[in-house]
Amino acid sequence: MLKGKNAIITGGVRGIGRAIAELFCKNGANVLLCYRSNDAAAEKTQDELAKYGTKVEILKGDVANAEFAVEAVAKAKADFGTLDILVNNAGITKDKLMLQMKSEDFDSVIDTNLKGSFYFLKAASGVMIKQRSGNIINLSSIVGLKGNPGQVNYAASKAGVVGMTMSAAKELGRRNIRVNAIAPGFIETDMTDELNDSQKSKMNEVISLGRMGTPEDVANVALFLASDLSAYVTAQTICIDGGMSI
Ligand code: NDP
Repeated sequence: MLKGKNAIITGGVRGIGRAIAELFCKNGANVLLCYRSNDAAAEKTQDELAKYGTKVEILKGDVANAEFAVEAVAKAKADFGTLDILVNNAGITKDKLMLQMKSEDFDSVIDTNLKGSFYFLKAASGVMIKQRSGNIINLSSIVGLKGNPGQVNYAASKAGVVGMTMSAAKELGRRNIRVNAIAPGFIETDMTDELNDSQKSKMNEVISLGRMGTPEDVANVALFLASDLSAYVTAQTICIDGGMSI
């Protein structure tokens, strides 16, 4: 479904980003995966994805740094020739009830999740506008649509991603560039691993499908959005939450 396409996936060496990277490679895409610090996960990902026979490049850096976004996009363009898909996936949480939340914790979550996505969106769209084609997928969260106690910083960043997605889709649609967002619910990754079993089973009670999602559940929708199957879909936020938010 993505044969010959070239993609950047931020945070592509663990969790949801890693699953998206694997599914994209399986479907014929070359990928440039960005990560921040986990060298072991980066090496393992590069080794494991080699079996699909597409190009897998890895770049270490902080998405909260605008220059890193420019560097990553320039590298993808130089090495692959085009940049067809951007998945803005890198994200962090720094949860605390509001009265205990330090402004540094607010800022760092906004810097990574919202500003980081903006830097990559801006750098990638520069290339895509010249190509007159492109596809951008931003990772939001149902927390950005519904809110959650202890996550005002995270909710603000992910709600910002939804607004940014709709605005960018309006700016870029005439240039044949689609921009959509994915809002996962409760997905089994390192990010949610810190919850204990009783917290997890409480969460499962409010999920209509009665289970946490897997990174592959999210990757399948990312593949749909990245492919021509969704050719007339733009500016949307698709919830992947097993019915948790209804
Ligand atoms: P993980 O914590 O498992 O992985 C996050 C990835 O992002 C890692 O590869 C990490 O790099 C990278 N990353 C984090 N910060 C930076 C940074 N500043 N610069 C570059 N890379 C960075 O997260 P998930 O897979 O769980 O989440 C992926 C996305 O999905 C996030 O945006 C998250 O907010 C969103 N989401 C997740 C949900 C869930 O239940 N898991 C629910 C809703 C949304 P490194 O490996 O080097 O640490």
